[in-house]
Amino acid sequence: MNTESAEKATTTMKREEVHQVIIIGSGPAGLTAALYAARSNLAPLVFEGDGFEDTAPGGQLMITTEVENFPGMVTWKDDKMHGMMGPDMMDIFRRQAENFGAITHRKRVTGIDFSKRPFRVSVDETDYHAETVIIATGASAKWLGIPSEEEYKSYGVSACATCDGAFFKDKDVMVVGGGDTAMEEANYLTRHAKTVTIVHRREEFRASKIMLERAQKNPKIKWLLDAVIIEVFGKTEGMRKFLTGTKIRNTKTGEITEVPTDGIFVAIGHEPTTGLFKGVLDMNNVGYLVTDSLTSATNIPGVFACGDCQDYIYRQAITAAGTGCMAAIDAERFIDSSPVEFVS
Ligand code: NDP
Repeated sequence: MNTESAEKATTTMKREEVHQVIIIGSGPAGLTAALYAARSNLAPLVFEGDGFEDTAPGGQLMITTEVENFPGMVTWKDDKMHGMMGPDMMDIFRRQAENFGAITHRKRVTGIDFSKRPFRVSVDETDYHAETVIIATGASAKWLGIPSEEEYKSYGVSACATCDGAFFKDKDVMVVGGGDTAMEEANYLTRHAKTVTIVHRREEFRASKIMLERAQKNPKIKWLLDAVIIEVFGKTEGMRKFLTGTKIRNTKTGEITEVPTDGIFVAIGHEPTTGLFKGVLDMNNVGYLVTDSLTSATNIPGVFACGDCQDYIYRQAITAAGTGCMAAIDAERFIDSSPVEFVS
């Protein structure tokens, strides 16, 4: 893999029919790539996603509350520094990129052809072409995978406290997971719920010390450790389904108990949104795109990847933005070193 050059490409297309850069995805990675590419006069076309399936314009920060760890993105209230709300931050990212000439479309890419340059990127029946493509499709929440969970999605089972927390005012809810997301979701949910029980499959936590301690100090948060949810159940009243409880198995004793709850928030990590590239781009065994160790290059010269669709180690907004910057610079250098010959 390299970003330096590729075999010369010729095409029967005209220069004006082909974009220099198409960016797929609009989280911190995609929009940082858009900002850098736009400032290099590459007029990037960004497909933001349409909000259906796993394509959320703005990415995962749209379903986050306060982001406290993105340097410089702060607000002040009563002389105190606060983080910035995720959606506000992504709005700034998008407008900053557009300000320099990025073109954003709320559309979901449905097909690609990277077999020759210019590359083809399709949105339903419409084809777009580009000299380079930057993939920033991110990742989405993982689910427990038990059949009853599927049945109660939107009726008490959720993966987004910010989206659904307000429906659980003065109710008892559970958060599944032992990472930072679980701690953050649990803390957030105590604004609405009467109690929040963190259900975690062991006694040690993956969460950072600061996030764990914050949850441990919160009097509304209870803990159910060495515990996995094996079933959720509820009742139907008229047209409406309600969750009423869970079956929980103790991972040490094997004992199964029924625990009542009004809602379950699953916070057990994420998986990359890379299905579109299966069989085309190199991926690891769980679907993260493989990039060159020093650059954002994939196995296809001219196609670059950045953010959570290729980073399974850091998975932070700031690292996603950093790799988005790398991808834009890599694309710019590639266009210079490997021009496409167009018809006049
Ligand atoms: P993590 O992968 O860090 O944690 C996932 C948690 O879910 C683990 O405790 C894991 O258990 C548990 N889990 C996984 N699969 C299952 C399953 N099938 N059943 C039950 N439990 C399961 O994911 P997060 O989303 O929490 O965090 C991802 C990254 O985002 C991290 O780097 C984190 O620091 C960052 N982050 C930062 C925030 C901030 O700074 N404000 C907020 C949120 C996230 P086990 O530990 O046993 O494997």
